[in-house]
Amino acid sequence: MGTMTLNGKIKSKYDAIVIGSGISGGYAAMELCKKGYKTLMLERGRMVKHGEYPTANLDPWELPTQNRVPSEELEKHYPKQSRLSWWVHQDNKHWINKDDEYPYEEVERFDWIRGHHVGGRSIMWGRHCYRWSDLDFEANLKEGVAVDWPFRYKDIQPWYDYVETFVGVSGQKEGLKQIPDGKFLPPFPLNCAEQNFREEVKKKYPERVVTPGRVANLTEYKPEIHKGKRGQCQSRNRCWRGCPFGGYFSSVSATIPVAEETGNLTIRSNSIVSEIIFDEKLGKASGVKLKDSVTGEEMEISARIIFCNASTVGSTAILLNSRSKAFPNGLGNGSGELGHNMMDHHYGMGAYAPYPGFEDTYYKGRKPVGFYIPRFRNIDEATNQKEYIRGFGYQGGISRGRADTNGKLGEDLKDAIFKPGPYYAGMTCFGEMLPYHENRMFLNFDKNDKHGLPTITFDAKLRENEFKLREDGVKCAVEMLEAAGCTDIKSYNDATAPGACIHEMGTARMGRDPKTSVLNKWNQMHEVANVFVTDGACMTSSGTQNPSITYMALTARAVDYAHKQMNKGIL
Ligand SMILES: Cc1cc2nc3c(=O)[nH]c(=O)nc-3n(C[C@H](O)[C@H](O)[C@H](O)COP(=O)(O)OP(=O)(O)OC[C@H]3O[C@@H](n4cnc5c(N)ncnc54)[C@H](O)[C@@H]3O)c2cc1C
Ligand code: SF4
Repeated sequence: MGTMTLNGKIKSKYDAIVIGSGISGGYAAMELCKKGYKTLMLERGRMVKHGEYPTANLDPWELPTQNRVPSEELEKHYPKQSRLSWWVHQDNKHWINKDDEYPYEEVERFDWIRGHHVGGRSIMWGRHCYRWSDLDFEANLKEGVAVDWPFRYKDIQPWYDYVETFVGVSGQKEGLKQIPDGKFLPPFPLNCAEQNFREEVKKKYPERVVTPGRVANLTEYKPEIHKGKRGQCQSRNRCWRGCPFGGYFSSVSATIPVAEETGNLTIRSNSIVSEIIFDEKLGKASGVKLKDSVTGEEMEISARIIFCNASTVGSTAILLNSRSKAFPNGLGNGSGELGHNMMDHHYGMGAYAPYPGFEDTYYKGRKPVGFYIPRFRNIDEATNQKEYIRGFGYQGGISRGRADTNGKLGEDLKDAIFKPGPYYAGMTCFGEMLPYHENRMFLNFDKNDKHGLPTITFDAKLRENEFKLREDGVKCAVEMLEAAGCTDIKSYNDATAPGACIHEMGTARMGRDPKTSVLNKWNQMHEVANVFVTDGACMTSSGTQNPSITYMALTARAVDYAHKQMNKGIL
């Protein structure tokens, strides 16, 4: 094992390489380091240490152009990502890749939302964490869709317990089979209007549960458990800028500091992994090839095991680019499924309305989450739908804004600013997308980017089941607002492209049969035993729940398995 420049000089040695430093890569590195493995984390973006959050403490008046990015800048640098009007702002643009620097192609529109820096999207994520259940893990088999998941809830349940405890997930137990309860910290309570919404919805639709969002924000800080650079959440609700208090879970506040404390972690930033090297004689991967994005130096680094955590698209691109005599179509791609079955949650549908009846109440301060309504369609005989399979959940909130200041000046404006406006309720639907073989990403080997890597093309779209499900998602949102007494309800159904929900998954799926899947039940490549893929590429279906806590649970489980195999001398 060792690091070699291309002229062959050995520099150092590692037991494990982790590609990527985001949510799953941070977890993989921490678990490997805790077990004593000398681990190299390779991250293509710049270094970020906890606390290096440039906009975290800026007040609204300190952000240029009222936090808006001028349209010329959006058109030049973010032509694709700015199609999502809510995404690129002055307070977060340093966490977002510029489209012109990282070009990609689209047969069908794909909103690829990502940022290259240590911590990856763990810095900007929304922190919602919901367990998946057997409703999800059994669905493909029962309905004859794609392939069966190679494990069931009972296999992953202890790993949810394990990661939730360290991560710190606030939430309320509800006893629902579709999102099993977990190891929760106290929830961020619903405010008075949200609590009323919960009660009114329950009266008319008992199966629709409005519960506090379950988020990775520390409502209680226990230093002996929540290790790393963390502290209690102060409810400032500016998490997407990075949190100086370490109030929410990210790689830079939690997993990387713990990994560093072991003395076993080396992080190499600005290191673009281009491929994994397959050694035909050994019948396994020997290491990776990488390019330093600053110096341009190219090198090969070897290790005993490799964890791919470069995000769904990033890991799939590396594997597709790892072509050898044994694997001419990409590493471990004997099944031909690598790059296929692209999923995301579909998005861009919901409803909002003024929420009446609470004009005499007021609450002060902020909180970093509102409510969640878990899936209630197709969960049993009584809720089965004829028109479509699977379901959807909602994230939303009810809050009180300021009085209308439009057209007011001087004293009138001052008066209006100090008066509260109406409460507003809003909810966005997150729908399940099925794994279609035709939905895919592939590499353009004749069109390289500035680092000499093939560019990526996306060709994935929503299909009939998704469109039917969307109509019902919007209808149910309106029904619930009506049930709570809202009148001026507005709904929307803007069919967004895949990628927009930032839950892309499925392009190196797990399965039981090497002929139809890329990974086995331990996230290990069927065909290359010392390569593990534990980011969203591994997912066999998309569920309705936000997926990252599941990536973390699968990652911790895969490291444990790899460790046992290494101890037995098998790996
Ligand atoms: C605004 C926003 C809100 C979100 N909200 C939620 C939520 O509420 N709940 C939820 O579950 N999920 C949420 N997500 C999604 C969540 O962030 C992702 O699922 C998660 O970060 C994926 O983890 P990952 O480890 O696969 O990849 P990432 O966190 O994206 O990290 C991948 C890392 O790999 C690096 N990399 C890529 N290619 C290479 C290469 N060739 N060589 C070296 N390094 C490479 C990247 O630079 C990056 O740092 C949200 C995302 C965003 C942006
Ligand atoms: S809400 Fe909590 S985690 Fe988010 S920025 Fe504020 S203190 Fe940090």
